[in-house]
Amino acid sequence: MNWVTAASAVQWRIQPFIDGRYRTSESIDLVENVNPATETTLCRVSVGNAADVDAAVRVARQRFNEGCWCDLPSGKRVEILLRLAQLVVHYKDEIALLDTLEMGKPITASIYDAEQFAPAVLRSCAGFADKLFGESAPLSSRMLAFNVYEPRGVVGAITAWNFPIVNAVIKVAPALAAGNSLVLKPSELTASSALKLAELALEAGVPEGVLNVVPGLGATVGAALALHPDVDLLSFTGSTATGRKLQELAGRSNGKPLLLECGGKSPQIVFDDVDDLDAVADATVQSAMWNQGQVCVARTRLLVHKDIKRALLDKVLTRAAGYVPGDPLHEATTFGPLASAAQRVRVAGYIEKGLKEGADAVLKGTIQEAGGCYVGPTIFDQVESSMSIAREEIFGPVLCVQSFATEAEALTLANETQYGLAATVWTRSMGCAKRMAHAIRAGSICIRSSGGEGLESPLLLSHEPQKASGFGFELGRHGLEAYSTLKAVTFVGN
Ligand code: NAD
Repeated sequence: MNWVTAASAVQWRIQPFIDGRYRTSESIDLVENVNPATETTLCRVSVGNAADVDAAVRVARQRFNEGCWCDLPSGKRVEILLRLAQLVVHYKDEIALLDTLEMGKPITASIYDAEQFAPAVLRSCAGFADKLFGESAPLSSRMLAFNVYEPRGVVGAITAWNFPIVNAVIKVAPALAAGNSLVLKPSELTASSALKLAELALEAGVPEGVLNVVPGLGATVGAALALHPDVDLLSFTGSTATGRKLQELAGRSNGKPLLLECGGKSPQIVFDDVDDLDAVADATVQSAMWNQGQVCVARTRLLVHKDIKRALLDKVLTRAAGYVPGDPLHEATTFGPLASAAQRVRVAGYIEKGLKEGADAVLKGTIQEAGGCYVGPTIFDQVESSMSIAREEIFGPVLCVQSFATEAEALTLANETQYGLAATVWTRSMGCAKRMAHAIRAGSICIRSSGGEGLESPLLLSHEPQKASGFGFELGRHGLEAYSTLKAVTFVGN
């Protein structure tokens, strides 16, 4: 595929998709869609506003009340979601190109997201759609009492830009599988693949108006969704700061419940009994630098036993130096630009702060100031927990290294963060692994893995972020329950 030619032929269409068709918004919000690889404009579009959100919510409510989706036999919803997964695979090149142009992800990574990751989420949610059973309570022969899962109604979803198609699918798939209608607001940086997903959902058989997408700014479209009195549940992926604003907005409107998947600062903990330092070094760099470090569960803090620190750090440095930023439209590129100029400013600011605070930059990535938001991998040694680079989420290719002498010290360092998304522990001791898995305050713990080995286990198992990383179950069977309400029904009589 000649991606450069394909890129020049893209017809940009970023408008509200409501009730199964694109609509022209009366909004005056203009968004300039910029390619971060070149910092040139892809298109200038007028995105949605609060009136579009209101129209989308009304349609979603009407469809929900009509029962055209929620009252379908669950097996039928399974079929349609599986068809949607196939369609996403079929259109993988188009979806991947949109994501790469809008956020700079290397094209092969975008193809992986569209061909493997997003369809796997759809299939996994489809697999649970007809297995949401309630329970019955054995009361007496005159009484029948049971629980039943029902869809919540109209779900509002707001997503981040780092995995555009996957972030959209992670909201859409469980919400639809559980029988809800939706209004989705993707990130203003990356709306196109979410709009394509809505078109494909229609083609797969999801009725018009069940999945609506309103592209736009957080402060207008996002806030309107959070404030809307007829949204029954708000599901969010993004920063902790925005998540907290949404809690306020939800409280000021109808008190809608929230699912919040927010930021992280996850540790990679390496004990001195590991037998394969090369595997650890591979996983450390892959996990910290994947997607240019713009991953919520990136293991951005390497906590390593003092006796093996030098040996591991040497291996990590060699590997990280191999991550050379390149044009994301070249299939050989594995490391692209950051997603936006704002991200470059943010990451460069943290690198500056790390140096000022006294950390030792053992690898310092080059920062390209114009013509592409490229920032190479940076590794800081001699990091203290009090430094802002150790405490705050950078969301870029920056790894912080700290060392420990005992298991207790490793645990203290691991938990010395406001976040609680994920962690990895490298040890051959089952006892140590079990103790750490139990005591680390994070929603997802990997032992001798950074979670990149395969999609099955993370998709089948549900998890819940802890502390400032958010709350509410995601993925797996409990992930569908999170988009449902549990009702108790009691019959009395013969
Ligand atoms: P962000 O919080 O700036 O934006 C996320 C979404 O919220 C966007 O759609 C944005 O338009 C919207 N938004 C912003 N302000 C709003 C407001 N006042 N009201 C309503 N909506 C508003 O985050 P980002 O920069 O897009 O994404 C990066 C963040 O996302 C990182 O913190 C990362 O860790 C997090 N993230 C978390 C997960 C997870 O699963 N935990 C996954 C991906 C990304």
